[in-house]
Amino acid sequence: MAEHFELPSTIAILPSRNKVLLPGGVVGVRCTSAASVQLVEQELWQKEDLKGLIGVVPMHDSQVSDRPLSPRASMLQFLQEGKNFDRGERESSMVAPPPSDLQPPVGRQTNETIHWHPRGVAARVLALQQHMEKPTSRVTYTVVLEGRCRFGVQEFNVHDLYNTARVTQLDSTKAEMEQAEKDPEVQVLARQFKSVAGDLISLLEPKLKAVERTKALLETASAHKLADIFVASFEGSFDQRLAMLDAVDLRQRLLKATEIITRHLQTLRVAEKISMKVEGNLSKSQKDVLRQQIRAIKDELGDNDDDEDDIVALESKMQSVGMPANVWKHAQRELRRLRKMQPQQPGYGSSRTYLELLAELPWQISSEEREIDLVAAKDRLDSDHYGLSKVKKRIIEYLAVRKLKPDARGPVLCFVGPPGVGKTSLASSIAGALGRRFIRLSLGGVKDEADIRGHRRTYIGSMPGRLIEGIKRVGVNNPVMLLDEIDKTGADVRGDPASALLEVLDPEQNKTFNDHYLNVPFDVSKVVFVATANRVQTMPAPLLDRMEVIELPGYTPEEKLHIAMRHLIPRVLEQHGITNKHIKIPEPMVELTIQRYTREAGVRNLERHLAALARAAAVKVAEREQSMRRVTGDMIPEVSLMDHGEGRGGLGDGGGVEMEVEAVGIHGREVASAMTDLEPLLVDEAMLEVVLGPPRFDGKEAAERVATPGVAVGLVWTVVGGEVQFVEATAMLGKGDIHLTGQLGDVIKESAQIALTWVRARAAELKLAVAEAGSLLKDRDIHIHFPAGAVPKDGPSAGVTLVTALVSLFGKRCVRADTAMTGEMTLRGLVLPVGGVKDKILAAHRCGIQRVILPERNRKDLQEVPAAILANMEILLAKRMEDVLHQAFEGGCPWKPASRL
Ligand code: ADP
Repeated sequence: MAEHFELPSTIAILPSRNKVLLPGGVVGVRCTSAASVQLVEQELWQKEDLKGLIGVVPMHDSQVSDRPLSPRASMLQFLQEGKNFDRGERESSMVAPPPSDLQPPVGRQTNETIHWHPRGVAARVLALQQHMEKPTSRVTYTVVLEGRCRFGVQEFNVHDLYNTARVTQLDSTKAEMEQAEKDPEVQVLARQFKSVAGDLISLLEPKLKAVERTKALLETASAHKLADIFVASFEGSFDQRLAMLDAVDLRQRLLKATEIITRHLQTLRVAEKISMKVEGNLSKSQKDVLRQQIRAIKDELGDNDDDEDDIVALESKMQSVGMPANVWKHAQRELRRLRKMQPQQPGYGSSRTYLELLAELPWQISSEEREIDLVAAKDRLDSDHYGLSKVKKRIIEYLAVRKLKPDARGPVLCFVGPPGVGKTSLASSIAGALGRRFIRLSLGGVKDEADIRGHRRTYIGSMPGRLIEGIKRVGVNNPVMLLDEIDKTGADVRGDPASALLEVLDPEQNKTFNDHYLNVPFDVSKVVFVATANRVQTMPAPLLDRMEVIELPGYTPEEKLHIAMRHLIPRVLEQHGITNKHIKIPEPMVELTIQRYTREAGVRNLERHLAALARAAAVKVAEREQSMRRVTGDMIPEVSLMDHGEGRGGLGDGGGVEMEVEAVGIHGREVASAMTDLEPLLVDEAMLEVVLGPPRFDGKEAAERVATPGVAVGLVWTVVGGEVQFVEATAMLGKGDIHLTGQLGDVIKESAQIALTWVRARAAELKLAVAEAGSLLKDRDIHIHFPAGAVPKDGPSAGVTLVTALVSLFGKRCVRADTAMTGEMTLRGLVLPVGGVKDKILAAHRCGIQRVILPERNRKDLQEVPAAILANMEILLAKRMEDVLHQAFEGGCPWKPASRL
């Protein structure tokens, strides 16, 4: 094919039915018919070399092609009709395994129209093989042919059984071709063809064997040869290949080849897409099959299928909890999803946990509602709590309303007070009185709305909110739920928990509370909510609006003593497994504990200290028990030996049994009762010091702190109730600056400025010694410090204390150690009222302060202070700053002739 060669004018013709051999194409043909066998034998087999050429001419019947025949073809058809070719066997491929004969066997005649094509291809024999058919001994051949060049048929002739034809060469000579390839149009067409041919090779690259060789061929071979080779190599329709055979002109050939290859390329791409889709589908169904197989294997092994069993159990549990219809539908959907998943699959765990939550929630389970017995409730409150008569009264009212109207939508009770005053235990008593379960949700520090309402399940590690979690834990849908420290929730960028709480507390909305994780509504309307807070000031207004605030002030030392004797000590002893037969804590010792070791509004620390005493007693009891055992243990063998003599193991001996029983009795559980004969441990001052350490507060603190001028005792309010606060001022050389330390807010800093201004303005009037030398601040700086620097402080109520400290500093006189004060002061010296009076007075009382200076306008607040406290204290009311100063210093105010009070 590479070189031009001489084509003989007459050539033997091998017909090729419905197939077209192209120049450059290779085909193997099985020759079985008498005509083709004769052709092979006469034209090829008997020649010594295999260089013989034969012509391959396509023939087609009208069923295969609708292609109109040229007038010339019709003429040939006419010629052909006399030759009696029949359909014969069809070739299956032009390149692959040898097809059967191209030539219809002579003799099987038919009237069907056969068309010879007017053009053919001269082919060179590459290989020839002879076969002997058994048992007929008929000889057949397989011949491998390579197409070389196109020819046109001038005339068909019959040569014995086969045909010959007079032919003319159609392909141009090598020189003509080279000339033609120089034509610019041909060059463009050649480039186009090579480009699509390149695309085709890349697409087929994974499947093509000799890719590199084909690519090299594309680079080097001339376009006209390549066009034939490509079309010959790839499967094409009969018409396409016939058209290619007819494309004698170079331009036409390139165009045709480009068109055929492009179409082939498109077909391949579509096929690839389809196969990818099919593969995907297949792999999905294959996975299903695999899954079933795994199940079957597990079944077979007998270890099937814990998960499946679990899911069945989960489903039946969900059915039994009586969830509402819409929730059940939702749960079933999720269950179906879970069933389709493998345990190792991501999402399986979370889906399961979710379903377990649905199964565990008490959709229908309620504590049995029993008739509220008000008398019993009152008894219970009284037995659990000392004092608090007002609070108890309000709780009984609340219960009475619930008794008359169980679904009453009253406000939520909110106990407000410092820590340890019994807020939580009151709420739990309410639960006891209602006969319901009790659950406490600690809301302190909750800043994220999701903490209340849960995270959506799309989040990794999402969980239900605290409310739903609490309901799940308590296991009933009508518990008493304590929203503890509700004032400590705070809004930030993650949303406002208060808004979620509002929804929880709103009777209109809480029938369908929507937790983001749960994603189905849950009815919390049967829950009895009770809240606690340390202070109402920090509570969001809408939330406060839903609450009925019940304040619990701190306890007086007397109340604490009663609480300790009646409630705390018995409870603490019981918790430590001892009784008052083991330890005796006399009242004076409890009093001492209160005085020296606690400074709190509630009784939590007191309870802790009593627990420490109980622990110490428990150790002693345990030690005594051990030594007792040792003593009794030693005794037993002695007794046995005495009684049984050599026969130690003779338990059956009547005489020894009595002794044994007695000995075992002492040795075993009876030790505690044996101990009762021993003296109980008596707590005294020495033991207090050993167990609780040296006294923390000795009542002399105030006297020591105010022993120098420049210190005043103030009363402040913090979340843990009222507190005594010392304010210290000092002067030093400087330029008249004022320094403030001790974690102060802006308001308190302003109060200090006002105080200094007021004192400076009245320096002469107040007869302050330093004022005589000129300005108060001349050549000096003032430093004011609020000790306990780690605690942030703010508020205006330190105004009067600041002035008193400054007057004391500049007047060089000490403030009375038994007097504490609180009050805001204006620039003109008026004393304005402040908040938290009751807590502050209680705090002063705790610290052993007998006199408290208060703004006159706080007189009304004194009603709230327990009378027992007021009886032991002197309350001094002040309208102006001068009144405060008059009371604050020993012997009154030297610069004022008489008190205005
Ligand atoms: P709070 O919730 O106010 O911080 P708690 O309810 O936890 O305080 O009370 C702390 C401890 O003090 C509890 O053991 C409680 O029983 C006890 N307690 C507080 N007030 C009284 C009281 N009036 N009578 C008896 N025990 C009390």
